[in-house]
Amino acid sequence: MDKHTVLVTGGAGYIGSHACLELLNAGYEVVVIDNLANSKTESIQRVQQITGKPLTFYQADIRDQQTLQSIFSQHSIATVMHFAGLKAVGESCQLPLDYYHNNVYGTLVLAAEMAKAGVRQLVFSSSATVYGESSEVQYSEHFPLGAINPYGRSKAMIEDILRDLAAADKINNNPAPWKIVLLRYFNPIGAHESGMIGEDPNGIPNNLMPYVAQVAIGKLPQLSVFGDDYPTRDGTGVRDYIHVVDLVKGHIKALQALTGAGFQQGGCRAYNLGTGQGYSVLEMVDAFQRVTGKTINYKIAPRRAGDLAECFANPELAAKELDWRAEKNLDDMVTDTWRWQSQNPNGYA
Ligand code: NAD
Ligand code: UDP
Repeated sequence: MDKHTVLVTGGAGYIGSHACLELLNAGYEVVVIDNLANSKTESIQRVQQITGKPLTFYQADIRDQQTLQSIFSQHSIATVMHFAGLKAVGESCQLPLDYYHNNVYGTLVLAAEMAKAGVRQLVFSSSATVYGESSEVQYSEHFPLGAINPYGRSKAMIEDILRDLAAADKINNNPAPWKIVLLRYFNPIGAHESGMIGEDPNGIPNNLMPYVAQVAIGKLPQLSVFGDDYPTRDGTGVRDYIHVVDLVKGHIKALQALTGAGFQQGGCRAYNLGTGQGYSVLEMVDAFQRVTGKTINYKIAPRRAGDLAECFANPELAAKELDWRAEKNLDDMVTDTWRWQSQNPNGYA
């Protein structure tokens, strides 16, 4: 039997590289397209080293129609996992056109080339940022959408486009309909247990865990805890942190679901990928200190604009329909973050 080949866009990035690793280990053939806007080929080298299996890498932009055309003609791609995109909320407020062009237009080009090549299975990296404000803090997939920044809106627009694409199949009686899974990530952290691949942010990290890890290793002097007066158990913000390896295993489950009986009629479905458990900023700092034995120097700072007090996933739909649940706990996340950071103090550089 032919191997199932997966095109991984953004496969050199943090989550994409972990996805390549799990796909190769699970016996899939992997082709990567990445323009290296926020990554290095070293991640791809290490994925091949860890798995002992080769993958095919194209350094190109997903907005480059000709390259996509040539990839689809040279490889018999069955499914696309679409991670490529820009992801910094603050930067998206400064450079909205770049975000819409890269994320939204990039997905339009990709989807059009997929359709031309007859490839209609897609797993898309969406985000919990697509959700609107809610009085409930545990988010379910049916909650109203209402992103509050250009990054989140770019994800929400892509979700709309992909839902429309699947809906059109019903009107057109398409015999080979689109099968699309939108995965709404909560807060991915951690790294592969080898410590060889992980998150390698450019410059000063925006996200909590990479920041804490860089304070622990002495690259940054002090963590600012953004607000201690939220209506949460200790006043600091609560989020649903999920181990990146659990997250990418959710993608493999989504891929299996796309090819299964439940998706025979096609469609576009959204699933939360989170643990269902929230931790506060101070709980994360405590866990990091306890597990690593390092002292994290921190101060309480004003709230960060746009932050919610509390947000975590209802992960039941993914459990029921994708047969997926996060398995790793907070200590695993911290241990693996620290292994990656301490073994690679300067990331892939
Ligand atoms: P990342 O920046 O490490 O990876 C994205 C990769 O896409 C990078 O390697 C980058 O070079 C590549 N890329 C960007 N634009 C491209 C283009 N036009 N053509 C080709 N390659 C391009 O980010 P990540 O954390 O691995 O995130 C992967 C996906 O998951 C993104 O779509 C992101 O929005 C989404 N997501 C991430 C998080 C998170 O906290 N990390 C949370 C929710 C959703
Ligand atoms: N946070 C913080 N200091 C930092 C970075 C983040 O206190 O330097 C807090 C932030 O206010 C939020 C939580 O940590 O409550 C997670 O923030 P992150 O940026 O990692 O994720 P997101 O805001 O996207 O959920």
